[in-house]
Amino acid sequence: MSSRRPYDGWAEAMFGCASAEEWVRGMAWETLAGARQEKPPIGVEALFPARRILGCRYRAGPCEARLMVEHAGFVIETNELRSTPRARFSRAHEVAHTFFYDISSSPPRRLLPSHRSKEEERLCNVGAAELLMPADLFAQTLRQLDMAAGQGFRLGAVGQLSAAFKVSFPAVARRLVEDLGLWDAVLLGCTRTRPRPAEQRRKERRPWPDEPAGDWRLAWCAKPAWAARSLFIPSGSSEGASRPPRIRIKALEQIGRGELRPRGPVTRFEPPSALRLGNLARTLRSVFGAQQGYPVHILPLPLNPGARQTQPASQACGAPKASEAAQPSLDALVCIPIPRRLRGSHPAPRGSHTPACGSGDGRP
Ligand SMILES: [Zn+2]
Repeated sequence: MSSRRPYDGWAEAMFGCASAEEWVRGMAWETLAGARQEKPPIGVEALFPARRILGCRYRAGPCEARLMVEHAGFVIETNELRSTPRARFSRAHEVAHTFFYDISSSPPRRLLPSHRSKEEERLCNVGAAELLMPADLFAQTLRQLDMAAGQGFRLGAVGQLSAAFKVSFPAVARRLVEDLGLWDAVLLGCTRTRPRPAEQRRKERRPWPDEPAGDWRLAWCAKPAWAARSLFIPSGSSEGASRPPRIRIKALEQIGRGELRPRGPVTRFEPPSALRLGNLARTLRSVFGAQQGYPVHILPLPLNPGARQTQPASQACGAPKASEAAQPSLDALVCIPIPRRLRGSHPAPRGSHTPACGSGDGRP
């Protein structure tokens, strides 16, 4: 049996759902159906009436968005009224918070006796992903993109899905890899730091002085849950953190030198030779190059000028917002496909067709 999470028993008793996640997904589908949102991008504001959200109100401060309960319904207070991917995710997250209220009463009454918890925040991120990238619509759009391009597995699709659904790259990556299992792959978002003068001087003594200095760092990683134990995958993410990514691709260099041992099989490295990704390519080759396995794909960013992505939203309300300036753009997307045979007996991710449960207005 898979492990039970804190609200699973509650969701089962209240709504007859196998898990709280299943309940949240069901609520998201009902909300989308009620708002007739059937094409990307999903209009977040169009979802408001179905959940008794009266609108958004500007409020300066560190909190990206928060849900305020008023007599007639809810108001979302936000410090960003524009419709950026980040703000859209924040608002969808707040819409998911309304699932935890009985919206038939005035004012809406909380269904859970406890205050908001980490688990509720996680479930609201699940709900936000479902609202902004509905499973069936997302899979269908990916199929259409693939057909248009005449090939299957393309990193460029991450950017196209991001544009179609107006969500961030890491939100797309997690949807593809973690939630829906549409790609059997690990996706890494990488940034390159600017070199300090001392680093620049060291670099000039290296055997490849023509390469740009600075470290490659991991901004975020999306990986299938089942893969985490059987493959070495760099972990850690700076998402929501106020500092740039701390996990360095340098950890991979150490592995390449045998200073750290990867667990499980790794890969053959075949970057498209036209790419000039300097030490990222070299690093990955040193890690993955010596062993047999599967190819690594690297896509340098920006995919097109002006499309550089900042870090995603999705963090808990109340968490301090990292300043936009401190949020690095991505410089490369890396994809490490994982052969299906390695999945072994691990279960496939949830399909898109689990039956909905729960009632439309959040009442038990
Ligand atoms: Zn929240």
